[in-house]
Amino acid sequence: MTEKLYDLDSSVTEFECEVIELYIKENRLAVELDRTAFFPEGGGQTSDRGFLGEAYVENVEICDGHILHFVENSEENVQKFQKGVVLHGKVDEIKRFSDMQQHSGEHILSGIVHNRFGYNNVGFHLSESGVTVDFDGNFTENDLCKVEDLVNEVIWKNLEIRVSYPNEEALKTLTYRSKKEIDGPLRIVEIPGVDVCACCAPHVKRTGEIGQFRILSAEKHRDGTRLSILCGARALRDSREKLAQNTAVSRLLSCRQTETAQFVQKMKTEKEALSFRLVGLQRRLLAQQAADAAPQKRFVEFLDADMETLRFFGDLLADKAGEFAAVFSEDSPRRFVVFSKTGYDVNAVCALLRTELGAKGGGRNGAAQGAVDAGQDAIRNALAGD
Ligand SMILES: [Zn+2]
Repeated sequence: MTEKLYDLDSSVTEFECEVIELYIKENRLAVELDRTAFFPEGGGQTSDRGFLGEAYVENVEICDGHILHFVENSEENVQKFQKGVVLHGKVDEIKRFSDMQQHSGEHILSGIVHNRFGYNNVGFHLSESGVTVDFDGNFTENDLCKVEDLVNEVIWKNLEIRVSYPNEEALKTLTYRSKKEIDGPLRIVEIPGVDVCACCAPHVKRTGEIGQFRILSAEKHRDGTRLSILCGARALRDSREKLAQNTAVSRLLSCRQTETAQFVQKMKTEKEALSFRLVGLQRRLLAQQAADAAPQKRFVEFLDADMETLRFFGDLLADKAGEFAAVFSEDSPRRFVVFSKTGYDVNAVCALLRTELGAKGGGRNGAAQGAVDAGQDAIRNALAGD
């Protein structure tokens, strides 16, 4: 059995240890130690990483009750980690501290939500890509602001976070949150007046170390809510990045940072109105072009326009076409329409584009549409006719 140094003192990040077993698991090299400060993955949280001697510990897992430290599977490491070898272990303090900030913050959040709304924490995920907490209930935007304030107030009070293993008698009288039944003695993490929870992970010693707490987003998850949260340095980095974005946008728009959304909304409305006018003007121009066009057997035209405008132009040109009018967009792949008002088989035009240029699409009764990824010349050649 490995002594878990992380269990009662989360500040231990360097330690001396002895190799008690070396395993090769699915081509990975796993070291078992007599004692370890490396927290293995569990409870929704990724494991610690760091060094055993010179070797990098990339992951730590509990396999069949054994805490295994995974290192590179090299000949050198196989020699180095022989049974009985004494080593110096060093946990990556920055990751550990950040994980503790997030996890302790999550306990305060879950405690407050449970006390205030009666909702349960039904899922927790802590990794480098983000931190999410799932609750079996819903929040208003106001609720979330209030909860965020309350969590930060607990942080500022700098309360002690206590870890203990109460005996069965004491457990009977204790009310605590627990996600699932845990084998062996129950480890209780208590933040006085805020939360009592069964948990196996390392925590900061006082709430002040969490620094700050932010709720980044809330989305519907099953019948409840998934909150994305961040604490401490990660919350600081996140707000810094978002502030930089907002600062850049406010400079581009020459507006106050508190008015960027309002300005973007205004620009969006203006853009929509402009697009509308542009389409109107383009159609007037196309109508004139179609009216001026001399009748010919086949029209093959290319247009920087949306599908509706392609149809508008194709339909008008077909009035002048002995066989058909085909209009292609300028994007990739090109969308196209084919119209005929003389009974010409428009599906045969599509079939030609399908065989010659790998187009998709078809139609009948004088109207067809599709998409093709080809250059203007190739399309003109394919549809040149005799
Ligand atoms: Zn926990």
